[in-house]
Amino acid sequence: MRTKLVAGNWKMNGSLASIRELIKGIQAGMGSVGSAGVIVCPPAIYIAEVSKLVEGSNISVGSQNIGDQDSGAYTGEISGAMLKEYGCEYAIVGHSERRSIYGETDEMVANRYAAARRNGLKPILCVGELLEEREQGITEEVVGRQIDAVISLEGVESLADAVIAYEPVWAIGTGKTASPEQAQDVHKFIRDKIAALNADVAANLVIQYGGSVKGSNAQELFGMPDIDGGLIGGAALQADDFLAICQAAG
Ligand code: PEP
Repeated sequence: MRTKLVAGNWKMNGSLASIRELIKGIQAGMGSVGSAGVIVCPPAIYIAEVSKLVEGSNISVGSQNIGDQDSGAYTGEISGAMLKEYGCEYAIVGHSERRSIYGETDEMVANRYAAARRNGLKPILCVGELLEEREQGITEEVVGRQIDAVISLEGVESLADAVIAYEPVWAIGTGKTASPEQAQDVHKFIRDKIAALNADVAANLVIQYGGSVKGSNAQELFGMPDIDGGLIGGAALQADDFLAICQAAG
């Protein structure tokens, strides 16, 4: 039985004052989110503060990325152990902004996914196609390749402790949402692909949808059989907007 999971990716937004307000607002509404799991992924520098603020609540903390190495001369990187020490339970890997702006390849993403697992963090593996790839009809090929990179490094069983977030790149931050049917088709493709290797892992795998999810479209998306919640960008920055999405999941 899968539980719906909603994660807020705050990206490089906020200040100490605004994140305190945001957490206060989310906490105030947590009573109304029912059974949905709720995760917030602050900018790395605020992880320690957010972990302290959410202590004792049902809100989990995730990082927006994770170093692929465990320690050493890797300027600018943050290791899994460091993230864990400051209260992270999840680590987003392979977000499309990391892939497209910072050049992270499928192989680099797979190494970060492995680092998360090695350090006891649950990876949230982001996959998704560009608009031109959808138009060329190669969405499944692209998403399949992104997932295969992880399976060939860590094995399909590794997905038992992971989340996949399907995020069509053309829908991220653009206001264009995939229709529930378009999203469901890809989610089903992902689940079937994994089921061909391990039916139990596939049945229990949480597959989130991400891309301009809002309170007004969340219910329809989350009502699809293979959509198990969402990875939320813009709408995660206001407590009321985020809570409306969490309520739709709950
Ligand atoms: C994201 O960045 O993962 C995302 C889905 O952003 P938005 O909700 O703003 O489209």
